[in-house]
Amino acid sequence: MKKLILAIALFTSIGASAQTEKVTYKPLMQQFVPTDLSTYRPVLKSTLDRSYKIDPTVGYTIQETKPGSKIYVLTDGVWQSAAIVTTTGVVLLDAPESYGMNIEKMVKQVTDKPITTLIYTHSHNDHISGSRYLKNIKNLEIIAAKPVASYLKEKNDQKRLVPTNSFSGKLTLKKGDKTIELQELALFHSNESDVAVYLPKEKFLMVVDLLTPGYVPFKNLDLSNNMHGYLKAFDKVLAYDFDVFLAGHLTALGNKEDVVVAKAYATDLYSIVKKLYQNTDMMKVMGEAAGTIGWENKFLLFNVYLDKIIKEGTDEVVAKWGDKLGGVDVWAPSHVSTMLNYVKWDD
Ligand SMILES: [Zn+2]
Repeated sequence: MKKLILAIALFTSIGASAQTEKVTYKPLMQQFVPTDLSTYRPVLKSTLDRSYKIDPTVGYTIQETKPGSKIYVLTDGVWQSAAIVTTTGVVLLDAPESYGMNIEKMVKQVTDKPITTLIYTHSHNDHISGSRYLKNIKNLEIIAAKPVASYLKEKNDQKRLVPTNSFSGKLTLKKGDKTIELQELALFHSNESDVAVYLPKEKFLMVVDLLTPGYVPFKNLDLSNNMHGYLKAFDKVLAYDFDVFLAGHLTALGNKEDVVVAKAYATDLYSIVKKLYQNTDMMKVMGEAAGTIGWENKFLLFNVYLDKIIKEGTDEVVAKWGDKLGGVDVWAPSHVSTMLNYVKWDD
């Protein structure tokens, strides 16, 4: 009996795998799962040359962004936050999860002043879940945009401390000798609000998860749900007078040129995708595929059409930007896909 069951099982599984092998079409986004990691382009030398030097035995660093500014970047080489040392105390900008337990220790390396204030740029876990390690700081003031404060209050998840103060639109803070301007920008990244933090005297600007200095933006254009807002955000950022730009991620401190380059990348991506969208005959592409598989599987036929644009767009983006920004070949398929969603459904 056991042998019979085994024989049936074997027969069924052989049958199933033979059936699977008949399927030759593989969705493009799955083809980009890295099977051969050595085929990816190495990080550009120009990007490596400007990277923070971090002692690997420590794993993080705190460095002044500009001599005498008393604005420090805290980073572990992947996330970035800031500490502003004022005459009356320290104002933190974000508290990333990855090095949250070390933030107080890092700040003590540069000042004896107490941490009095924490400002959230947006609600995402990776940038503010480290706040839970600051819960024992007495009378800690936590400031966020109103929609972020409401969201975190509703979530009440213990990882992200709930804001004590909130604002709409703009808020100017006077903290000791520092003036800090907060502004809700176009919704370009998170679902609730994305806030710019600006210190006019020091020409320091922090806008998180819009771009990555030296690299293309993260997957799906920094996980943006709003490409209209994303494309608009660059001009809003460039309207500020700044020379130091803190982007929230990866290996380097940014500057105005990084924002200009990222805007050029996003604008070029838009043009490439728009052109391919206008020049690709959807019914012709689907009709050719239907010649092989028939018209029943509508989702598959539509995906063949989308994948054709994603493939051609990716090739063009990588050819144009591969030697200018890091990670183009890693994220271009997702960038083209996100931009195509916008161009087709929202533009
Ligand atoms: Zn984010």
